[in-house]
Amino acid sequence: MRTKIVAGNWKMNLNREESIELVNAISAELKHLELGNNRVMVFPPSINIEAAQNSKSRDARVEVGAQNMHQANGGAFTGEISASMLIGANVKTVILGHSERREYFNETDSLLKEKVDQALENNLEVVFCFGEKLEERNAKSHFDVVERQLKKALFHLTEAQWANIILAYEPVWAIGTGMTATPEQAQEMHAFIRNTIGSAFNDKLAGAVSILYGGSVKPNNAEEIFGKPDVDGGLIGGASLNASDFSAIIKAM
Ligand code: PEP
Repeated sequence: MRTKIVAGNWKMNLNREESIELVNAISAELKHLELGNNRVMVFPPSINIEAAQNSKSRDARVEVGAQNMHQANGGAFTGEISASMLIGANVKTVILGHSERREYFNETDSLLKEKVDQALENNLEVVFCFGEKLEERNAKSHFDVVERQLKKALFHLTEAQWANIILAYEPVWAIGTGMTATPEQAQEMHAFIRNTIGSAFNDKLAGAVSILYGGSVKPNNAEEIFGKPDVDGGLIGGASLNASDFSAIIKAM
C-alpha cells in the first residue's frame, strides 16, 4: 500500500519562537491520533529547521524538512544551502520545484534535474512539485506541461532512486488562491501522472509512488480530495500555519 502524507509548507513565514510554537501545537493535536504508516511533515524556513526539530515537545512523527537547496556540493554561492548541510541538520526530506521557486527564482526543468540528482546523491528524499498554470489549463495543454516537467527532471532516475521521490501535483492556479481543483480534476491528473510513470517505467513503480495534491487544501475540502484513489495526501500552504486546521487536514488523510 502507498504511503499517505500530509506535508505543510510554511514558506517564508514564522520566526524561531513561532516555529517552535507551531510544531508543538501540531504535536499536541496529534497526541491521540493513530497514524499507522501515514506520514506528517512540516517545512519551516531553513533557519528555523533545527529549532523546530529540537523542540522537546515535538511529536517525533512530525518530520521536519527543508523547502529548498542548491544544486552544487558547495562553493561561492552566497546565501545558499547545500544538501550535505541539510543532512548535517538531520533533515531527511527536501521540497524541490515549488511553483514559487520556478516563478520567482527562475528554476527550470533542467536546473531541477540537477537539484534532484544532488539531493538523491546525498540520500535526501525529495518532494517534487510541478503543475500547470491557468493559461496552460485553459489552452488544454496541462497534461503536456505536467508530462514535460516530470520527464525532464525525473525520468532519467533509476527504479531504486524512485523510492526516494514523493510527487506533489500543484496546479499553479490553485496555490494560495482559494481556487481548489475539484476532486475529479485532481483524480484525473493524478491518474494521468501514474499512467505516464507506468509507461516510462513499470506499473509496480507507478503504483508505489505517493502523489500528493497541493492547492488551497483546507479542512472543509481535504476529505473529498484525499478520498480519490490516486490522491495520496496533500502539500498544504496557508492552512498548515494553523495547528487546528492542519491537524484537521491530517485527520482527513
Ligand atoms: C503550497 O504552497 O504548496 C500550497 C499548496 O499553498 P496553499 O495551500 O496555500 O494553496
